[in-house]
Amino acid sequence: MIPFKKCPVCNGEVVEKEVEKLLRGGNNTAVVKVKAEVCLHCGERFYSKSTINKFQEIRSKLEHEEISEFELLGHSFKAGSR
Ligand SMILES: [Zn+2]
Repeated sequence: MIPFKKCPVCNGEVVEKEVEKLLRGGNNTAVVKVKAEVCLHCGERFYSKSTINKFQEIRSKLEHEEISEFELLGHSFKAGSR
């Protein structure tokens, strides 16, 4: 588990929630649902070490286009500003 009972940023109350995190590697992005500790006061999110390791793993997979295990949700686009 995560060693926070209080938010180290604002000292607010921290609760465990399932959150969506957007990860980017190379030109690819993936959305992962993970458990995080979320501060009720400032909204800061805290992830456990194993979750952060998972993020790294997914990022490097995205970077190397090893995306066969990921589910295709849609395309992501880059919009230029004119
Ligand atoms: Zn906080």
